[in-house]
Amino acid sequence: MNIILLGPPGAGKGTQASRLENERGMVQLSTGDMLRAAVKAGTPVGLQAKAVMEAGELVSDAIVSALIGERLDQLGEAGAIFDGYPRTAAQAESLDQILAERGRSLDHVIELVVDEDALVERITGRFTCASCGQGYHDAFKLPAVADTCDACGGHEFKRRPDDNEETVRTRMAEYRAKTAPILPIYEARGLVKRVDGMADIAHVTDAIEAILDGRA
Ligand code: ADP
Ligand code: AMP
Repeated sequence: MNIILLGPPGAGKGTQASRLENERGMVQLSTGDMLRAAVKAGTPVGLQAKAVMEAGELVSDAIVSALIGERLDQLGEAGAIFDGYPRTAAQAESLDQILAERGRSLDHVIELVVDEDALVERITGRFTCASCGQGYHDAFKLPAVADTCDACGGHEFKRRPDDNEETVRTRMAEYRAKTAPILPIYEARGLVKRVDGMADIAHVTDAIEAILDGRA
């Protein structure tokens, strides 16, 4: 099964993708994570992407589609959860081609519907474990034991340089202008299912699982 999680920054795509990975053996393909890894490693892609990401703008379609193709080639038989890709109509077209070339197709496009007013708080409160990447939030998802990662026991945490209020506004504007318009393309193909992204994290997962199991 191959699915897209679609929604504005902070909608909960990464949170849900990681829960689905643990529960269903699917693999999260996050272009944001791939680009951050490239920036950290100082690769040519990373050097090109760094300033664009810090400004909250979109990296070029060619770069992200190439990253997705490479990662899919390493997946074997596992199902893919696309998180943060596609973000433009051109990327949606590339994804069709990338999947077809590999004998895959899209099963669902799951839109996480959220209240925009809540997103700034979600994003400015976001932090992750520096060792394993487990995601947390200052108000909504603190580690069970203070300063200790639930997943790996690590004690170091980090915040993204682009998770500040000003950049978040640009990222939301990019979403509205370039990403939201791809929903009708998938709607015309009968692929879109909507989930209330304002529910608590476990309930959102339940709603997605119901879709994947054909119960919704
Ligand atoms: P995205 O990948 O869509 O940008 P994340 O999954 O990183 O969003 O979620 C953004 C922040 O909001 C994280 O700190 C996460 O812990 C928190 N979060 C995610 N889903 C929910 C939810 N349903 N309710 C409250 N907080 C949430
Ligand atoms: P994310 O981790 O999904 O919030 O993405 C962080 C940043 O990486 C975005 O603000 C963009 O600059 C860049 N990025 C991630 N995915 C894409 C994509 N599919 N297309 C263009 N830029 C992307």
